[in-house]
Amino acid sequence: EAKRNGRNRYELFHPDLEAASRVRRQMEIDLRRALHRGELQMHYQPIIEKEGCRISGYEALIRWQHPVKGQVPPMEFIPLAEETGLIHELGARALNLACQEAATWTNGATVAVNLSPVQFKNSELVKAVALALEDAGLPARRLELEITESVLLANTEGNIRTLQALKDLGVRISLDDFGTGYSSLSYLRSFPFDKIKIDKSFVRDMGESREAMAIIRAITGLSSSLLIEITAEGVETEEQFRQLQVEGCSHFQGYLFGRPVAAEHRVEELDTRATAQ
Ligand code: C2E
Ligand code: MG
Ligand code: MG
Ligand code: MG
Repeated sequence: EAKRNGRNRYELFHPDLEAASRVRRQMEIDLRRALHRGELQMHYQPIIEKEGCRISGYEALIRWQHPVKGQVPPMEFIPLAEETGLIHELGARALNLACQEAATWTNGATVAVNLSPVQFKNSELVKAVALALEDAGLPARRLELEITESVLLANTEGNIRTLQALKDLGVRISLDDFGTGYSSLSYLRSFPFDKIKIDKSFVRDMGESREAMAIIRAITGLSSSLLIEITAEGVETEEQFRQLQVEGCSHFQGYLFGRPVAAEHRVEELDTRATAQ
């Protein structure tokens, strides 16, 4: 009986597991190739400043144009890159591309680059950032690095030292996706972040959910006392934009203002008709 169950289980799951690991191996091969063939590029999404609805910066978001599969979303290949260690090369590529691109912008906008927690395991991270800035000729104050709280969960002391070393270069540090995961307000005590990004799930739900709204209020309430700027992510409607302004957010990002686009389609100014109130 046990044996039959075991065998059934084996037959049930074995082909799936094997298929899954085959897909994974193939994807790893493809990703390695993508790094060398330039299939990875950065898209840029505007971040809007409250006053005058000016574009103050852009978030750089990686895109993979797979020759057969088409656009592969980052959530499908970043985890694989993290597991295989390819994230170090991928992260350096993203950083270099973004810094070089930002150096060509005439309006002095900042560029925000996402860092994976795995990149903090590389002792050369600070050097890589310094080198990317130097190679691009980009002043450090025009670079923002976005991290998530997971950076503060593992190797906390070492990672805080790394964050401080990055900050000493003159770059700004943002806490991304705030409110999700294990987020707790106490993380804000562990490091002097320049910016908090409210996760888009709260912005999406703020109209219907009192809890979402309460969390947004808790976060914005801190901004004035801690002197941290607050960016709301995922702003899609006029109503969300209006309410978030009332709550005291200083920066906004979302489809209402512009989707992430390739460098050549980036705009320097908002189409005011799109955001007219
Ligand atoms: P994230 O850093 O939180 O980036 C914001 C995500 O929200 C992006 O998804 C963006 O396209 C999406 N978004 C922006 N506005 C709206 C909106 O109004 N509505 C909705 N529904 N979504 C909006 P994307 O580009 O798919 O990236 C997903 C995640 O992948 C990023 O989340 C980030 O964690 C990661 N990622 C992207 N590029 C990089 C990179 O170069 N390096 C690393 N390590 N991670 C990256
Ligand atoms: Mg981000
Ligand atoms: Mg985010
Ligand atoms: Mg996010």
